[in-house]
Amino acid sequence: MTRAYIPLSVPNIKGNELKYVTDAVETEWVSSGGSYISAFEENFAQFVKVDAAVAVQSGTAALHLALMEVGVESGEEVIVPTLTFIAAVNPIRYCGAEPIFFDCDDSLCLDPIKLEHFLEQECNYEDGIVRNKATNKRIRAIVVVHVFGNLADMASIMPIAQKYQLKVVEDATEALGTTYTEGVYAGKLAGTIADIGAYSFNGNKIMTTGGGGMLVSNNKQYLDHMRYLSTQAKDDLVNFVHGEVGYNYRMTNLQGALGLGQIEQLSIFIETKERNYRLYSDLLRECPEYSILPFREGTKPNFWFYSLYLPSEKNIQVKMDALQLKRIQTRPIWGLIHEQKPYLKNQSYQIEKAEHYAKHIINIPCSTNLLEEDVRYVAQSINEIFGE
Ligand SMILES: *Cc1c(COP(=O)(O)O)cnc(C)c1O
Repeated sequence: MTRAYIPLSVPNIKGNELKYVTDAVETEWVSSGGSYISAFEENFAQFVKVDAAVAVQSGTAALHLALMEVGVESGEEVIVPTLTFIAAVNPIRYCGAEPIFFDCDDSLCLDPIKLEHFLEQECNYEDGIVRNKATNKRIRAIVVVHVFGNLADMASIMPIAQKYQLKVVEDATEALGTTYTEGVYAGKLAGTIADIGAYSFNGNKIMTTGGGGMLVSNNKQYLDHMRYLSTQAKDDLVNFVHGEVGYNYRMTNLQGALGLGQIEQLSIFIETKERNYRLYSDLLRECPEYSILPFREGTKPNFWFYSLYLPSEKNIQVKMDALQLKRIQTRPIWGLIHEQKPYLKNQSYQIEKAEHYAKHIINIPCSTNLLEEDVRYVAQSINEIFGE
């Protein structure tokens, strides 16, 4: 008897997606115009409780537009966590700016205490401008990444940003749907708190458009201008008049059709993720060798990724290989970005927890397609292999 392979995180496309994509194809509206893009934008905005959203080609494109929109310019610096997918960092370079790498707290997101210490002790603040003492460069913005379904501590981060007049971009990809239930931001969803929120719909995210992204902001001018930049900055649709250097970043109607079908199911996806997370929590043995990480208190998480915390570094790869033999995919978390070749010369500030977590966490299967028996099989296999 061979078991079906259990991948880490794969798409779930069983709703109206085929119907909508077929309609887009049959009507030949497949490119960067068409009603599915705007229908998807409207449904998305409604889901995260904002007035409007702008759909683009990828999360990376969304982050690039967001950084340009908050004014990040060549020669400036941007604060970013080192524990993230690299797509949250590369767009800083696209703007000609440089990242400064920061540590995480126990939610795996940007540590607000170290953020404040750095700004207080390592920077000068004059005439509304923050300069890094080490480089004398202006720091313009902070990119906050909400990791694995967690929300960063925005109630602490936002007042610090305001105090130093720094713009904040939320990379809310992984926490789409996660909501604060307590504190000043109670009722607010990931991505809707800072100046601009960016999301990705790549294949492994909680919902997918194959490739795609979204931007939200409470600032309508920002949104309108990002939409303009995403469509080659056309001032006149007929006569090809362009007022700025634009980008070909607009989402296509085919992606929009997929997106509309997916967002209709997002609440169900989140329910399924929560059910499977709770089942894992019940089934994984309580022991010193491993535990499943909780999500931040005071939030209703989207339960996107499940993190298995392993206090001992010993034999993690051997054990992951043993799970692979049982046809179960697991994955370590990202290599830290300040250790990646393009960023070795960049400044990093007191990185400790990120280094620890990067060596002690693996992610376990979390697709919304998982059956109860799959979860039971994975949990049992982890109990066998990691319990020694
Ligand atoms: C997936 C991901 C992205 C990348 O988005 P793309 O759509 O692949 O460009 C950006 N940030 C985070 C945190 C991600 O998880």
